[in-house]
Amino acid sequence: MGAIKDVVDLARDLANSVKDAKTAEAIGKIQSLMLGIQSEQARLTEANSDLLEERRVLEGKIRELQAEVEQLSTPSSPILPGEEICPNCSKPGAPKYMSKQPPFVQRDFGITHRCSICNYSKQAE
Ligand SMILES: [Zn+2]
Repeated sequence: MGAIKDVVDLARDLANSVKDAKTAEAIGKIQSLMLGIQSEQARLTEANSDLLEERRVLEGKIRELQAEVEQLSTPSSPILPGEEICPNCSKPGAPKYMSKQPPFVQRDFGITHRCSICNYSKQAE
């Protein structure tokens, strides 16, 4: 925006200082064209700002819909009775089962299941 204004100002100064009428007229025309470019640029800047805002809103909508699609397309995988899935390592549709702990661990430490990946342990209730 600043460069356009500089050209407009320069053209005005030139048109005022030039003696030849034909040259002054041509410079005036350049000045007028630059003013047109300046207003067009202002319009485009505003349109661009509107589009950026619209894009931001649409990206939010896309994220919401993607989450919804993922949720809807996840088969409700039945978790086997007596099994526990790791809350850290399980993904929608891909449960990660934890290992059942031996009786002495359950008795002495109160831990019924442990994840072999992240070591998350489920305490006896
Ligand atoms: Zn885990």
